[in-house]
Amino acid sequence: MLNETYKLKESIDVFVSETESPDKVLIIFHKMTTRDRIEIIAGKGVAEFLALLDGKTTTVDILSKLGNFDNDSAASLIEFLSSQRLIVNFTERPPENQRYKRQIAYFDDLILDRPGHSTQEQLKSKHVTIFGCGAVGGSIAEILGRAGVGEFLLIDYKRVAEGNLVCDTYSTRKDIGNYKTDVLAAFLNTIDSNINISTINEQLLPHTDLSSWIPKNTSLVINTCDEPYIGHTSLKIGRHLHQQEIPFYVAGGFDAHLMSSGELIFPPFTPCIDCAQKTFSVALENWKPTYSSIEDSDENISFETTNNYIAGGSGGFVALSAFSANLASLRILEFISGDSSINFNTVRYEYLINSGFTTEFEMQKQENCCVCNDKI
Ligand SMILES: [Zn+2]
Repeated sequence: MLNETYKLKESIDVFVSETESPDKVLIIFHKMTTRDRIEIIAGKGVAEFLALLDGKTTTVDILSKLGNFDNDSAASLIEFLSSQRLIVNFTERPPENQRYKRQIAYFDDLILDRPGHSTQEQLKSKHVTIFGCGAVGGSIAEILGRAGVGEFLLIDYKRVAEGNLVCDTYSTRKDIGNYKTDVLAAFLNTIDSNINISTINEQLLPHTDLSSWIPKNTSLVINTCDEPYIGHTSLKIGRHLHQQEIPFYVAGGFDAHLMSSGELIFPPFTPCIDCAQKTFSVALENWKPTYSSIEDSDENISFETTNNYIAGGSGGFVALSAFSANLASLRILEFISGDSSINFNTVRYEYLINSGFTTEFEMQKQENCCVCNDKI
């Protein structure tokens, strides 16, 4: 242990202050990622020792610089700091990754399955397919690309039009007329030229053979394709993915639900796609208007009015879509980073911009579903 090198985590702030005792100081470790705070009272030598932990100098060398600091105390101090996840062992760590070092520190604090740099490597190995490169799909791709996902398949048949510049954050005027997939791919490669990207510029149709589109080694498929309706495209994609045992994320941010999260579909951990859709159709039973005819138009018609309309908070289209994309990306990154503490509760959140409330809505496994009741 004493021949190894250690460094304080990037995400730790250390504050040292005097105490009533002239030989002792109060040391406060503040974890920026989790807001945890750890306080110790120790000799002044400990504060000096912490300042010298640079990830390059061995503990033995630091001790010889400090002089009166015995080996046993140093070993128990290192043990304490490691157990509290305040320092990392740099001896066998790869050279610091300048691009991702802040994110790696974050992974170090929040994903306890492995060192942060290994989680970062894990993201690089992921292959993500995205249906729909509009405002939500494009922003999710950007967030995942910046986070370090290494491979994408982008699917969209549309070309960039002027109206897309309002909300597709990856496109600019010079892109008008080009395929959205190509524009988004080029944009992702300006973020990181090592991202591998393939594209399909075809429309998803009822008879589309998805096995020829989606590679078997896909880590996750994300659906943001809301034409003709996200429920229909999700059923087709979700049923295919279930056969292949590929996880699925159905994004929000469409139709009237402009500021909603989506949901992860990965049976048996979550309800299957049919159950998720069924939950929606039951919940939204009275949502869509029904048509009725007025038989006698000469009669005086009286209206009973109910007014549920709450005005306010227009938001701006790009902000609404980006909100949904961000919520989706948080959940997607939690899943593909392999965090074993993940909670598979399938809750959809929606922020109601006019009233300022967030609603939540849980997908349920249906009693008679053979998929959801088979494997458990
Ligand atoms: Zn089911």
